[in-house]
Amino acid sequence: MTPSASLKRIALIPGDGIGSEVTQEARKVLESLATKGSLPLETTTFDWGAEKFLREGVTLPEGALDMLRSEFDAIFIGALGDPRVPSNRHAADILLGIRFGLDLYVNQRPVKLLDARFCPLKNRGERDVNFVVFRENTEGNYVGLGGNFKKGTADEVAIQEDLNTRKGVERILVYAFEHAQRHRLTRICMADKSNALPYGHGLWRRTFEDVRARYPEIEARHVYADTVAMEMVRDPAQFQVIVTSNMLGDILSDLGAALLGGLGLSPSANIHPGKISMFEPVHGSAPAIAGKQVANPMAALLTAGMMIEHLGFPKEAGRIEELVKEALANDRVTPDLGGTLRTREVGDWICGRL
Ligand code: ATP
Repeated sequence: MTPSASLKRIALIPGDGIGSEVTQEARKVLESLATKGSLPLETTTFDWGAEKFLREGVTLPEGALDMLRSEFDAIFIGALGDPRVPSNRHAADILLGIRFGLDLYVNQRPVKLLDARFCPLKNRGERDVNFVVFRENTEGNYVGLGGNFKKGTADEVAIQEDLNTRKGVERILVYAFEHAQRHRLTRICMADKSNALPYGHGLWRRTFEDVRARYPEIEARHVYADTVAMEMVRDPAQFQVIVTSNMLGDILSDLGAALLGGLGLSPSANIHPGKISMFEPVHGSAPAIAGKQVANPMAALLTAGMMIEHLGFPKEAGRIEELVKEALANDRVTPDLGGTLRTREVGDWICGRL
């Protein structure tokens, strides 16, 4: 940290289910770093989620995006989703409202194995599983374009469009190449299905050819997404950076999470370079285990690490990762990883080591 580092204001949205339990631990670790003076940070908590929606009918409050933009440096979100709201309307409004509203076009999901014992692959260690998936976050099949005709009848027709723009594809590809350059990585793989989707993914393929020409020092390959899935299991060490579309990124990064030991260890960031960004563990609200203090907070802690690294504190972020690693090595883990610790005990142990 530089002595002149300015105060960073974090909006915390714990959300639903295990979201609030794991966010509590992330807050503890962040505040611990702040109290020790190594991180000038202040958190403000917002109660947006199912409870508020059921009570007041409010999802993302009026003016929320402007407020986040003008008053905060980053957003940390736990998870959204509650069986009492079967449509999950509040989750879509809040999560997609922020993602689309703040134009957070980069979804960054590191696939970095911290402890080989939790990798389901045979004879693979930390050196074999260490790459990052960049998923386009604002386009593709997830924009909600489409409709049903003759819904609920035997003649029903459903259309779900896959939206791809030159601007949208180019900016995520450029971000991935820039990331590789900044981190001295030498290999990028672009995954698509341009063989089966010649229009939408043909655009990805052509844009990739244009962008890669600007980075001759980086070895850039195009590989069909189904092959990428297979190769991630067969030989993950070949990957450093994978860049892909919204839906394919969703799927491939969950496969990545499995390589690390599961959702309890998988962090993510939603970024718009130079503007406010949002950080969230990959897992959802897991209603089945909510309220029991058995959720693994490590994904949330690693996500907090990604957030402070993004805000300019790589040393403190590295410290969080080191301590998560140490907790794994010492079996200070929750039941999903075979341990007996409760959510808050993992957070306490890590805070104690700070
Ligand atoms: P949502 O509808 O919010 O996505 P979900 O339960 O369908 O919730 P996830 O929350 O992503 O989906 O999780 C699926 C399962 O993975 C959970 O039921 C739980 O068993 C496990 N899981 C996810 N996150 C964690 C965690 N942090 N710690 C322990 N187990 C987890």
